[in-house]
Amino acid sequence: MDERALSFDEFDPDEEGLREALTSTGNGYFCTRGTAEWEDADDVHYPGTYAHGLYNRETTIMGGRPVLNEDLVNLPNWLVLKLRIENEDAIRLGNVELLSYRHEYDIAAAMVIRELRFRDRGGRETALRSRRFASMAHSHQGAIEWTVTAENWSGSIEIVSALDGRTTNAGVARYRQLEGRHLDPVSPRTFGPEVIALHVETRQSNIYVAEAARARVFRGDEQLDVGRSLYQMEDYIQQVLSFDLQQGEPLRVEKLVSFYTSRDRAINEPLGNAGKSCARYPDFEEALERHTRAWNELWRSSDVYVPGDERVQHLLRLHISHILQVCSLHTTNHDAGVPARGLNGEAYRGHVFWDELYVFRYLTTRLPEITRELLMYRYRRLGEARAAAREAGYTGAMFPWQSGSDGKEETQIVHLNPLSGQWVPDLSHRQRHVNAAIFYNVWHYHQATDDLDFLRDHGAEMMLEIARFWGSIAHLDPERERYEIHGVMGPDEFHEKYPGADEMGLRNNAYTNVMVAWICEQAQTVLGLLTERRRDTLRAKIGLSDEEIAKWGEMSRRMYVPFHGEGIISQFEGYEDLEELDWDAYRAKHDNIQRLDRILRAEGDDPDRYKLAKQADTVLLFFLFSPEEIRRLFERLGYEWGPDSARRNIDYYDQRTSHGSTLSYIAHAGVLAHIDPEHSWERFLVALESDVGDVQGGTTKEGIHLGVMAGTVDLVQRAYTGAEIRDGVLYFAPTLTDRLDGLSFPMQMRGTPIRVTLGGGELTVVITGGFSRPIKVGIGDDVRELGPAERCTFELAAYETVGHGSDTQGSD
Ligand code: BGC
Repeated sequence: MDERALSFDEFDPDEEGLREALTSTGNGYFCTRGTAEWEDADDVHYPGTYAHGLYNRETTIMGGRPVLNEDLVNLPNWLVLKLRIENEDAIRLGNVELLSYRHEYDIAAAMVIRELRFRDRGGRETALRSRRFASMAHSHQGAIEWTVTAENWSGSIEIVSALDGRTTNAGVARYRQLEGRHLDPVSPRTFGPEVIALHVETRQSNIYVAEAARARVFRGDEQLDVGRSLYQMEDYIQQVLSFDLQQGEPLRVEKLVSFYTSRDRAINEPLGNAGKSCARYPDFEEALERHTRAWNELWRSSDVYVPGDERVQHLLRLHISHILQVCSLHTTNHDAGVPARGLNGEAYRGHVFWDELYVFRYLTTRLPEITRELLMYRYRRLGEARAAAREAGYTGAMFPWQSGSDGKEETQIVHLNPLSGQWVPDLSHRQRHVNAAIFYNVWHYHQATDDLDFLRDHGAEMMLEIARFWGSIAHLDPERERYEIHGVMGPDEFHEKYPGADEMGLRNNAYTNVMVAWICEQAQTVLGLLTERRRDTLRAKIGLSDEEIAKWGEMSRRMYVPFHGEGIISQFEGYEDLEELDWDAYRAKHDNIQRLDRILRAEGDDPDRYKLAKQADTVLLFFLFSPEEIRRLFERLGYEWGPDSARRNIDYYDQRTSHGSTLSYIAHAGVLAHIDPEHSWERFLVALESDVGDVQGGTTKEGIHLGVMAGTVDLVQRAYTGAEIRDGVLYFAPTLTDRLDGLSFPMQMRGTPIRVTLGGGELTVVITGGFSRPIKVGIGDDVRELGPAERCTFELAAYETVGHGSDTQGSD
């Protein structure tokens, strides 16, 4: 297996959508699906180009009601290249006989390659090789190279090179009843004889987008003088290049494209800058060389080397490549969040969810400057979050469940159940836990980087405002003498409310309440990390009172956590009254029961009635906090926490979770890492295979699952080597050391780059170039300090009872 390429040797129309998503090319600024250049959008093919922050809102009248949606816009298709042989129709896979076919994604350079040989109706056999990338060296640049060889004929051909602005958002079948037109044409244009350009504007958000394309034909390195003719409409422009092919003599067509929007920095206006840049671009080979160099540099800080398992290695690298397609250093130049489905499909409309929780741990320990900017996406929307809190009757900041352009709540109010064909109310915006995730993310960014400037200027304000929100949504129950939170949903979206209830949400989601207890404690720590002057200024700015701070102290000790049975945390209050589902019966009846909510609703039933979960909810606590921290949190709250509490809770929910979100496999793999490593590994493998194998049957073609992809890499680092930064120390607690023998990866700890290697029963940490300050690394109580170029090795046999296994999960 070529671990550096994902390849498909036959064309399969049923799989093409999935492959287009898996073979997208992106550079952290814009990203384009791996659609063949010669295809238009239809049931099989879907060209899509998306850029961070390029949203537009449209209203659809449904059932007489206006429904407003914000979408990440499918931008003009820059790919279009079509081949016409001797004046016949342009070649498509459907009108030729394929002699051979290969569609490949070069993981190392995020490049999509197609190689095909075909026989057309005239019996002519032709070979075509296409290579394409979105440059990691020059973020505005896309490049395509075609090599065309006439194998048994000589004659004339035409190449159509176009920019097509007639694109709509139509990539997700279940959204097709909603308005999908987001672009208005502005104008086509040319810049000299070689460059065509197209200018469009988003219909409501008024963002200008310009693309320019330069097409040239080469024999070897020699540029040929070819015939050129132009055709343009207001939303489409094409140039037709005509020339002769001699049998057996390959000619190359290069299409270099520039992509600009009115949101870019250092531009005058997008069209002029697109035209100017495009004319200046080097030829394909040089552009590719620069692109490859930029990727190589990225891999140096991002790779994870797992020599013992080819498949794991292959998929981890595929995932890393996709993470970097969406979050690269270019991303830091834009006001970008983390779209849950990346930038290569339209599922969830390109919105930003809490999924960044699964992405940041990997990024922050390698490319923290990217996390910082992605957190700034949240900070810039703090005003909107404050307004949302106020409008809902709370103080502080309430970030939305789904976020897009300006940070207002973008969750739709109704959604379509594809199994029943019904539009049903969507209550998922009640997932206020996104606010806990943002707090957690800022805290861990701080732990990993010690970036005090960020904390002082942005992070602390977000954290304090989030803590205030929790302080205001919680109320004291006088009988229990505990703080409660009502009307919310946990991450398990199958439970939106109590069965038959009119009220939205649930009471006392345990995950939320424990996170809140932790937040209330940490918010006080955050205040302590600020200088007195900054603390006073910030408190005055946001009007934070002594009473609120005192309430945090109370809440950190007295949040209510429901329990039932023998020490089982109830996912929410009243959970124990729900019915048990007959899991075996559903498994026997359906091939896949991950989306039990849809199955039950299509049967006229209601998932709210049952003890079932779409994804890790309570279990997430054990994923996000170390066993020691969990024990400390529960004890601080005054609840009993025994040595086997974690294991029993994980077992309980493991049996009642359908993993209807693949994020769930990450969390379950993570919590089992030290309790039941082999089962953990099984789940890790499911997560690893989930996008490439499209385990949910059709979701990946609508966009890769970024949280899951990053989650798999994080599992290797955080769950299996146990890497965790706490109180200025990078701790390790390796498990599955046989499977991972030879594992090696670069990391950054508070600005100092290191390499971690696991092998032969040892874990070694070496400080590599760019030392910034001494760091502390440790296993259990054995904490060592490393200076410039120093290394240290831990003999793992000596620590078998230490780490995660010591006092809670692993030992019982
Ligand atoms: C999951 C959410 C997630 C969203 C976007 C949903 O299916 O349940 O937890 O945030 O997908 O990935």
